[in-house]
Amino acid sequence: MRNSRFTSLLLAGATASAALTVGAGPAVAAPSDPAAVTAPSAPSDPSGVTAASDPDGVAASPGEQDVEVFAEDGTIGRARVPAASPFVAEPFMSAAAAGDGAVTKIVNNGSTDSKLDVVMIGDGYTAAEQEKFRKDAAAKWKDISAVQPYATYRKLFNVWAVGAVSAQSGVSGDPKQSTVRTTALGSRFWCNSIERLLCVDINAVDAYAAKAPQADLVIVVANTAKYGGAGYGSTRSPLGYEGIATVAGGNAASGQIAVHETGHSLGKLADEYVAEDQGPYQGAEPPQPNLATLSADRMRKDKAKWYRWLGKASPDGGNVGAYQGGGNHPSGLNRPTDNSVMRSLGREFNLPGREAMIAGFYRHASTLTSATPTTTALKATDRLTVDLPVSGTKLRWYLDGKEVPALRDRRTIAVADLGPTGPRPAAHELKAVANDPTSAVVDPALTPALTRALVWSVTR
Ligand SMILES: [Zn+2]
Repeated sequence: MRNSRFTSLLLAGATASAALTVGAGPAVAAPSDPAAVTAPSAPSDPSGVTAASDPDGVAASPGEQDVEVFAEDGTIGRARVPAASPFVAEPFMSAAAAGDGAVTKIVNNGSTDSKLDVVMIGDGYTAAEQEKFRKDAAAKWKDISAVQPYATYRKLFNVWAVGAVSAQSGVSGDPKQSTVRTTALGSRFWCNSIERLLCVDINAVDAYAAKAPQADLVIVVANTAKYGGAGYGSTRSPLGYEGIATVAGGNAASGQIAVHETGHSLGKLADEYVAEDQGPYQGAEPPQPNLATLSADRMRKDKAKWYRWLGKASPDGGNVGAYQGGGNHPSGLNRPTDNSVMRSLGREFNLPGREAMIAGFYRHASTLTSATPTTTALKATDRLTVDLPVSGTKLRWYLDGKEVPALRDRRTIAVADLGPTGPRPAAHELKAVANDPTSAVVDPALTPALTRALVWSVTR
């Protein structure tokens, strides 16, 4: 399933009226709009799973986006909103102006090629408020990374702050619906007449995200203490990131919005909530790992979906089973647990969700890194250090394919300890193999990503 629109069709809702009112297909860029962020092309992920659960086949019109709305009580719903904002500073491409869009690394765990790079872009922060923005962004990451499995895997992430400079402080719709502020990204509450729905101009987001092209994940941090946010789950940027979450910089609870959204973008998870206006699901088996048309018995018999987790106690409470309802549909689809973060904010991922998140982290980041490039030719007098960012990771060293057991789990080794033999000019192969033995990932299709190797050449 390469095209996300077809995936939407696969998950087609039961009733035409529902399909027309609760669209969730990806927006298709108008041909006349070269700057459009959304692209009709297929996601790069070979599983072809769409970012959102896409319960019907109606794509948003050009210039529209399907977003998720997060109420204060934790419930989640959907809305269709304009992709542009009337309150964006034009032209946002003037971001090239001095001082605007400055990129700062606020959490540094290593080089971009071995880490998952989160990019936070500020909105409604003036030139004088850029330090406040970086503090708000750091606090937001603290809230997000307190949730499992982020907490265990936090060293797989870098966090970058893109300091978009806004002409005015604060964002539209705060404190009153009538409040208007011109800002770099055009953030506004009361989007679609929903007070807590915090929309942005997604082309402006993309223009600033381009300043940190390493972005794997984009979060917009708005200068407001008012609870709110949005999840642009179907947005796919030509820059490579999928989805945008918007959060209130000064509201701790809003960080959970980003956690839910990354369930889609990183975990490729579906929503587990139900929309009031949807009928029973009658489509084919959905591709996402946390929705199934199957009963628990059927999963066990067919060795399908989350059968390995059935009956196990889940971090979000209760045991993994097949709970009726999910992917917006009240029936016809089952979810793994009663109430995970993919159903309500402020909750934990369930066991299948946690497994999918860890696999998603490892699609971007590595369990083994070293400051010494593998192109370095090591000599007998050298020492070599590797980094294992995830605690509990096991490490083994191999010389010419044979393990050196004495060095097991040693992060720094002396080449002299290896005792390579043979003619002096001959090169030997030194290999470090790291494995994250976590019991949170059990699917054999996902476990290869838990092992990484680095190879150097060594001479005596
Ligand atoms: Zn969602």
